[in-house]
Amino acid sequence: TMFARCYETAGITNKDRIQITPGYGLWTAGIGFQAGAEKLGAMVIPMGPGNTDKQLQMMQDMESTVICATSSYALLLAEEIQKRGISKEKIKLKKGVIGSERWSDKMRERIATELGIELYDIYGLTEIYGPGIGINCEYNSGMHYWDDFIYIEIIDPVTGENLPDGETGEIVITTLVKEGAPLIRYRTHDLSRIIPEKCKCGRCFPKIDVIMGRTDDMMKIKGVNVFPSQIEEILGTFEEISSEYQIRISHLDGKDTMRIYVETTGDYDFAVLAKRIAEKVKSRIGFTPIVKVVEIGVLPRSMKKTARVIDERYD
Ligand SMILES: [Zn+2]
Repeated sequence: TMFARCYETAGITNKDRIQITPGYGLWTAGIGFQAGAEKLGAMVIPMGPGNTDKQLQMMQDMESTVICATSSYALLLAEEIQKRGISKEKIKLKKGVIGSERWSDKMRERIATELGIELYDIYGLTEIYGPGIGINCEYNSGMHYWDDFIYIEIIDPVTGENLPDGETGEIVITTLVKEGAPLIRYRTHDLSRIIPEKCKCGRCFPKIDVIMGRTDDMMKIKGVNVFPSQIEEILGTFEEISSEYQIRISHLDGKDTMRIYVETTGDYDFAVLAKRIAEKVKSRIGFTPIVKVVEIGVLPRSMKKTARVIDERYD
């Protein structure tokens, strides 16, 4: 079905061994990855989340060639492999299929280099067939989605009006062949845009851009509307810091304040770096955040999607 088509688009075949780390359960994640792999005829290593020791052991023993994970868990595995000094020859991974969530280019690059794999973004929602309604192709310029199964519109999240192709807005999906629980114009709260140009790979399936965030992620700080992706983009321009960050919004002394935590190595002056980042946010977005620089590894990494934005204003 759709998921098998995703694997095929990523060049994964029945010769591959697919290690699945998203959870099995009421949520459709793990089982969706599994059903697609079975349809394809590939071997499945159904791990589910957590238990990093066992994951790494199985990865070596079973010679997994494909890893399915969230971006945060893929990063955690990459870091663990490095930390434990597991030699590159023992890891046979070639490709990673990463569940859709917003992740920075920096994080993508880091996972790709550390694990030595090609990465594919996959899109999907439990409400709409589960994961696997779209994936990027070898040209890595947005995700093809299966328009024989779903109809996608992009709307302005505030007015509800349809936006022209190319403009960013909320993804609205209508299922075309679902019988049990069909959905008509289902608002996903995911932000993306339709990529109007035809893909270089020649596939006729239309494309949406990687998910840029959630409509409910928008933060209002000192009267300025901010999306976490804007902060992430700015942080991405600083070579010195890692891909992990945390944003905390709180109400201090009657004012909304944003604190940004970033990680770096001991080679840099924390105070100088913090000041430069704060200045850049001020010049690009229009308010000055409090930037705290910490040692690499201090910020949390999780098995599931990591909460990078914490709003403490209403606690
Ligand atoms: Zn393509």
